[in-house]
Amino acid sequence: MTLRQVDPVSTSVVLHRGKDKAIRNHHHWIYSGAVKFLPEFEAGSILPVRSADGDLLGHAYFNTHGSIAGRMLSFGADPPLVALEKNIAEALALRRSFFDAGTNAYRLINGEGDRVPGLIVDSYEDVLVIQISTLGMEMLKPVVIEILVKSARPRSVYEKSNSPSRREEKLPPKEGLIWGEPIQTVYITESGFRFEVDIVQSQKTGFYLDQREMRKLVRFLSPGRKVLNAFAYSGGFSVFALAGDALSVDSVDSSERAIELARNNCLLNGFGGDRVRFFAADVFEFIRSQRLDYDLVILDPPAFAKRKSEVVRACRAYKDMHRVVFKKIPPGSFVVTFSCSYFVNEPLFRQVIFQAAAEASRDVRVLQRHHQAFDHPLNVFHPEGDYLKGFLLYVT
Ligand code: SAH
Repeated sequence: MTLRQVDPVSTSVVLHRGKDKAIRNHHHWIYSGAVKFLPEFEAGSILPVRSADGDLLGHAYFNTHGSIAGRMLSFGADPPLVALEKNIAEALALRRSFFDAGTNAYRLINGEGDRVPGLIVDSYEDVLVIQISTLGMEMLKPVVIEILVKSARPRSVYEKSNSPSRREEKLPPKEGLIWGEPIQTVYITESGFRFEVDIVQSQKTGFYLDQREMRKLVRFLSPGRKVLNAFAYSGGFSVFALAGDALSVDSVDSSERAIELARNNCLLNGFGGDRVRFFAADVFEFIRSQRLDYDLVILDPPAFAKRKSEVVRACRAYKDMHRVVFKKIPPGSFVVTFSCSYFVNEPLFRQVIFQAAAEASRDVRVLQRHHQAFDHPLNVFHPEGDYLKGFLLYVT
């Protein structure tokens, strides 16, 4: 585990006066505008970072592409690779304190939220799926794999590095087995229910782990209700609604493969027959063409705004979708709705929902708010990690 490291002040990155504050607060990102002096370096390598007065603030990996020049791996005098190993060990210990055999799928490392910038690791039973989003982390990959194999003892490690942010780092997408046995699908358990996760052909890393707490809420809300699970993917919410004795559950997704997975996952848990229906269809067309005689509607679309410039268009789509649903569902219904677009923040999302309610002439109240599950920690100095927001709404 040796990486070339050099430390004299002349090979350190020096920040402008006053720009050390965020770093001293353990924010991981160094914007290019904060950098006063950058020594010659190989893109992706680790360099010491100093304040304008020469104090050692820590170590970061650097890349000259993109607006974020560096990402801190360690703070103060901690050696960066020691900090990396310690942070991975702490992330693992935290998850092991939460989960047991009843739930064996969770996010093991959530980037900056676990003090490991550029790395996401999801654990599916004994298979790890990793996502690398920066050149600096790409160069650390052999070290990271060694640490993960030693500490988490997986059967396989599969890479699914396809986040759009790689483009900014001039990294092509990368996908494939990087350690251990070849795998295609894994069977996981969440809150006692079984799911087939297609690692190779999946969306995200395989399963929407961030919605775990909301699946429990849906189960709680489902008894005796007719449920619509829109944007169902592999049927996570459908299984929990059926487990909660819903009268019926309709699952809609435009992807045939997603619908196949959703059907398999319902059957895997013993749910079939007339009360379970699947539609490979566009949700916007479905909600316009159907009566929507549902008393619990789940709306969990993909991010409508993937970049800032798409916010206005995204809000229009969120508003249209909510207006149609609010207009058609019977009084006394619940809507569980989400936005995973980072650029549409919670106040904006709520505003869009309330506008839709006004246009539909319905009374809509917020009963509960939701964010990503607790295995997706958020670094308080790094609000950029806060992407998922959701509301439980009561519509009368
Ligand atoms: N609720 C899911 C995750 C949803 S991800 C879960 O908890 O597992 C978003 C899903 O929306 C994807 O499966 C994608 O195929 C589907 N999708 C995207 N656009 C769609 C559209 N216009 N109509 C129907 N499904 C759509």
